[in-house]
Amino acid sequence: MDMIEMDEAVRIVLAHTEPVDVVALDLMDALGRTLAQDVRSDIDMPPFDKAMMDGYAVVGADVRNASRARPATLEVVEEIPAGTVPRVPVSAGKAARIMTGAPIPEGADTVVMVEDTVAEADGTRVKVLDVTETGKHIALLGEDVRRDQVVLEAGTLLRPTEIGILAAVGAVRPMVYRQPVVGVVATGSEIVEPEKAPAPGQIRNSNGYSMGAQVVRTGACARYLGIVEDDEAELKRVIGQGLEECDILMLSGGVSAGLYDLVQKTMREVGVEVFFDRIRMKPGKPLTFGTKGKKLVFGLPGNPVSSVVGLELLVRPAVRKMQRMGDLHRPVVKGRLVDGFRQAPGRKQFVPARSEQRDGLWQSRWVGHHGSADLFSLSQANSLFVVEAEAEALEAGAEVEIVLLTEW
Ligand code: AMP
Ligand code: MG
Repeated sequence: MDMIEMDEAVRIVLAHTEPVDVVALDLMDALGRTLAQDVRSDIDMPPFDKAMMDGYAVVGADVRNASRARPATLEVVEEIPAGTVPRVPVSAGKAARIMTGAPIPEGADTVVMVEDTVAEADGTRVKVLDVTETGKHIALLGEDVRRDQVVLEAGTLLRPTEIGILAAVGAVRPMVYRQPVVGVVATGSEIVEPEKAPAPGQIRNSNGYSMGAQVVRTGACARYLGIVEDDEAELKRVIGQGLEECDILMLSGGVSAGLYDLVQKTMREVGVEVFFDRIRMKPGKPLTFGTKGKKLVFGLPGNPVSSVVGLELLVRPAVRKMQRMGDLHRPVVKGRLVDGFRQAPGRKQFVPARSEQRDGLWQSRWVGHHGSADLFSLSQANSLFVVEAEAEALEAGAEVEIVLLTEW
């Protein structure tokens, strides 16, 4: 199989990614999901002419010329707390004490702020001390939204504000794309669960857990399927289980050219159609991708930087596309390198980096590589800068593209 370019790999993955099915969820479970259909309001909003201030509902003509020197004195006919319905109409020379959110009484067309008034001690009269324009401090029925108006379109990502809108229009069981389930398998006979002290030759499974967490950040649900030794029968069993239970299956390790790297072979044996098994990129060259039906399978190299790059640049767009989310890809900005950088040319390189904006310009600093301590330098990174395959040496100040891994 040919080694392919990263752009081509992304294209192939997305071409094989189909939307998951649609479910109705409670509002408390809907955060982060994407709407599968337009949502309309079942009421006018506001549902009645509503006071926007605490004060007095009046006839505008009565207070048009009011001032401290010549206050308008009005008779107070009732008190209207929010949540009640006014009973007494307001006519010339009259006012109703009204609270924010309460319906405007019949006859009134203006609310005077309480700050611009002085009430008589017994509450039967009020003096208006300042001019208030007619129509002021009233939100009119249907001013924000009309009944049956579309308030949220299909494809909208539900953030806290959109959850509030759904509640406001009575859409308490919105239809959304189901959260994709991503299975995570760590492969390698040297890998042990973190609660164990590693014996000679063993290492703890850090990838399974960091990848699971990363999956959650992509908007999917992570299912940890455990560690599998470099053993074909076991791999077959777990890949089969993953294909049953998950929308996407991710395997860490076992995709390189070692004698015990069995993942690609086993994927094919269980009927996965493999579309590529090498990408012209660094790190993560032996990244493998295939499908079985609508299920996607990714074999990511065991090195932690490789799994971050593969997950962010290939798996994440697929998770998002499955839910018809916009912005499938991480944002890319142009910026400058703080330090020089050298590479052996040949593969496009994604370098973990700390990037920040200074005076509107992005600057990016390599966080360094220390072999197996990669995880620790990775925790300093918030981005990846991209070094083109043919570049050999980039000087400090060279312009690069930076992939921003916000909320990563
Ligand atoms: P592999 O892709 O299987 O050749 O593994 C590449 C490197 O990553 C080796 O040093 C492995 O020991 C390491 N590695 C593989 N899987 C994991 C894992 N689950 N957690 C931490 N390191 C791993
Ligand atoms: Mg291995």
